[in-house]
Amino acid sequence: MRFDILTIFPDFFGGPDLGIFGHGVVSRALRTGIATAHTHDLRAFTHDRHRTVDDRPFGGGEGMVLKPQPIFEALESLALTPKPTRDTLRAADSPVKETVILLSAQGKRFTQATARRLATLDRVVLICGRYEGVDERVSQLFCDEELSIGDYVLSGGELAAAILLDATVRLLPGVLGHADSSRYESFGEADATLNAEISENCHPSRSGGPASSGSDESSPQSPPRSTNAAAGLLDYPHYTRPAEFLGVPIPEPLGNGDHLAIRRWRRHAALAKTLANRPDLLPNADLTDDDREFLASLGYNLPT
Ligand code: SAM
Repeated sequence: MRFDILTIFPDFFGGPDLGIFGHGVVSRALRTGIATAHTHDLRAFTHDRHRTVDDRPFGGGEGMVLKPQPIFEALESLALTPKPTRDTLRAADSPVKETVILLSAQGKRFTQATARRLATLDRVVLICGRYEGVDERVSQLFCDEELSIGDYVLSGGELAAAILLDATVRLLPGVLGHADSSRYESFGEADATLNAEISENCHPSRSGGPASSGSDESSPQSPPRSTNAAAGLLDYPHYTRPAEFLGVPIPEPLGNGDHLAIRRWRRHAALAKTLANRPDLLPNADLTDDDREFLASLGYNLPT
């Protein structure tokens, strides 16, 4: 997967050691070629002595605005034509799955679901704004989408681009040690098998008995998965050694080797954490009857 980043501050990302991307799994993905990141200095696409990339806003007001011409030329250098032509080319026979994104506080919210979608593409082009922003015709003519990383205003799009790249690259096949690591984490996808198993074991009468049809992977005797969050919830709390720290012990089920009890505790802890920190996620989460009963026991009743 290829990332092209258009910016007036290419040094923000670069350097011989991959700069901001020179650590951890993202660094490994870039070094092994699972993903590549290419920065493009917008000043290289100017034609005046001062290499001017910005100008005053029409209509007056504070600040400067990034001019459309250098961005247009930078995109052209990447063989990206304005949208109508590009869409026709794509529709015709272009096999390249790509998107051109403007980082903007006014954009749609970048989420884990967006990262999952981007991770299926071949190429992502990121345009970083600065100053008061970017001439609107850049979005109009060249961009497939405008994305915001949150409800706050950064001084430039570079950090937003780095965050988007990081969140996307770690989802690419082969980047994380275990594929399930990115499936069963905060904002992850639903895990129907696991949910059904927990539900059945909590309410054997519903299924006529404890879960028995699962594979070795999902049977109560098998080791717990690394996380039982998923389905739009936050991850559950994690603990490591020592079993007691400053007088605070780990939760009892985590230490007793009962894998079903561990899974159930983790699911409930993920629900409790989501209720405490992000209750807005609950109405859209994929919840089992057991989840709903547990939330009700905490005083939270979902609309039916
Ligand atoms: N005048 C703009 C506004 O009020 O929405 C803010 C411009 S901001 C100072 C400069 C650049 O930072 C933007 O063009 C954009 O590229 C980037 N930026 C700022 N906040 C962002 C966010 N939440 N998500 C993504 N990019 C952001």
